[in-house]
Amino acid sequence: MISVIIPIYNEALNIALLYGRLTEVMQAFRQSYELIFVNDGSADNSLALVKELASSHPEVKYIDLSRNFGHQVAVSAGLDRAEGDYVVIIDADLQDPPELIADLYAKMQEGYEVVYAKRKARKGESFMKLLTAKVFYRLLAAITSISIPVDTGDFRMISRKVVLALRQMPETSKFLRGQISWIGYKQTYVEYDRSERNAGKTGYTYKKMFKFALDGITAFSNFPIKFVTATGFLVSFIAFLMIVFSFYVRYFTDLPTEPGWASLMVGIMFLGGVQLISLGIIGEYISRINTDVKKRPLYFVQESNLGEGK
Ligand code: UDP
Ligand code: MG
Repeated sequence: MISVIIPIYNEALNIALLYGRLTEVMQAFRQSYELIFVNDGSADNSLALVKELASSHPEVKYIDLSRNFGHQVAVSAGLDRAEGDYVVIIDADLQDPPELIADLYAKMQEGYEVVYAKRKARKGESFMKLLTAKVFYRLLAAITSISIPVDTGDFRMISRKVVLALRQMPETSKFLRGQISWIGYKQTYVEYDRSERNAGKTGYTYKKMFKFALDGITAFSNFPIKFVTATGFLVSFIAFLMIVFSFYVRYFTDLPTEPGWASLMVGIMFLGGVQLISLGIIGEYISRINTDVKKRPLYFVQESNLGEGK
């Protein structure tokens, strides 16, 4: 059986077309499948449309989250309940072409546990989005110890083994593409051209993107905190040299020792700045520890026509 997880946030204009294209692809496999629509607190009538589909098509499952928890949590909710031997994660806006699932599936048959879809070209996205994505993925690749593939989203097919592994990772700041890389096993990719959103507008605001990027970095890299420590040592070393130099000038030379107000101010402000930045970065990690220590459930399900998951 194949499960397809589709996070939904205000996608009313895309659901019918998506369902049609997915159904065509999935029926060609001649295998049982389920389409799990996870409604992530949509404000439009997405849920009603999905429920309507579910009422006449037994393969359509839905999970309606109690509010908008964000894309990663919505996908996680689907992963917790998917029953397939293979699980596909796909966006609802048809930026990820459902037809590519056939290629992902074919690759899986060669013995892979993960086949992700790598973006060759990206159409219809703003210059800022492309630039920030490009910089972010390269930065992440440079500072993490695991190899998170560049230019890939969550569009991929994973085996049940990987799904079970993901369920054992209880972290609440989800960064699924990193977690899946971290899990390991045999992984490969197929390339595709990412098309533009079929209808509606992106649910990923810059605020959500920023949080997502920060989650990715802090979950998989200690580089920022190590960088702070290194900077601290460097600044301390320079300060030490300055102390030695001041003593030398004061006691072993006849140079006039000016009050040096300007350099004093610069020194204080520089140190103050470095300390504040350091505190900020440490704070980022502590806030995540804080969140995880609470062990709150990741989400609550309002209603669903699925069981508790096996
Ligand atoms: N999405 C979600 N919750 C959110 C934002 C987005 O479930 O808070 C879903 C959305 O419906 C879509 C997928 O995540 O199926 C990707 O979102 P979107 O297309 O808005 O992001 P973009 O492609 O612009 O990065
Ligand atoms: Mg999109």
